[in-house]
Amino acid sequence: MRIAAYIHQNQPGVGLVSADLKEVRPFELQAHQCALGALPLIEAMARGEPLPAPGTALPLDQVRLTAPLPRARRNIFCVGKNYHAHAKEFAGSGFDSSAKSGGDIPAHPIIFTKVPECVIGPGDAIVIPAGVSTAIDYEAELAVVIGKGGKGIRAADAMQHVWGYTIVNDVTSRDWQSRHQQWDMGKSFDTFCPMGPWLVSADECDGTRTQVRCWVNGEERQNASTTDLIFDIPKLIETLSAGITLYPGDIIATGTPVGVGIGFSPPKYLKAGDVVRVEIDGIGALENPVR
Ligand code: MG
Repeated sequence: MRIAAYIHQNQPGVGLVSADLKEVRPFELQAHQCALGALPLIEAMARGEPLPAPGTALPLDQVRLTAPLPRARRNIFCVGKNYHAHAKEFAGSGFDSSAKSGGDIPAHPIIFTKVPECVIGPGDAIVIPAGVSTAIDYEAELAVVIGKGGKGIRAADAMQHVWGYTIVNDVTSRDWQSRHQQWDMGKSFDTFCPMGPWLVSADECDGTRTQVRCWVNGEERQNASTTDLIFDIPKLIETLSAGITLYPGDIIATGTPVGVGIGFSPPKYLKAGDVVRVEIDGIGALENPVR
């Protein structure tokens, strides 16, 4: 199933997207639940409860999609340097405060987080923070959404804890990422987490082998398969849940492939007027202007 969050006639809604992607059928939820997007539904399913019956279909082109999890339940877990070619590209860029000479490939997953308040939806503008940074970069990523929570989850069991997937653009201020060593600030500026266009359940999308692509103003920058991940989804869940209890609705952005702006010489930073488009097979497309 595909679950979308949206605004229709100034009211937030959450609904089931039809297979032909032409309609959305709203779930009966209270307004405060709708404001959380798909989260109350994922939590209900994790408790073994049935979904509320969806109501009368609305044409999808008459709603404005928002992020499917517009206020994540807590910080979004993210993985740094998780594709081989990107790890080499980033280590060689001069911006990688974690780089060790001769060791581009991390021995263990590098985990950082983005604050939930930086999430924006499809079509919302990525805002370049005037006077703070102009070294703003895109990172197309597959995001895993946890269904059943847990702690000490073994890799062999990890996929049973995946509810599904969405797309995240892990927008980054490269100078802040480098200068402050810990990445959270440069990754969490307002508007720096475009998410969408909806959630797709794991029975309809195989995140372990899908294609991640990114264009800036129609120019292809990134194009890689998630089979190239250094640490795959089961390993990421095993690592994260070893000491941290995972909850339904937790989000894990799995890392970005080669082709980010700082991989070019000179770097190709985002600038006002650009449009960033990320596509993942089995999910859809997420497009955001830059302002
Ligand atoms: Mg990233």
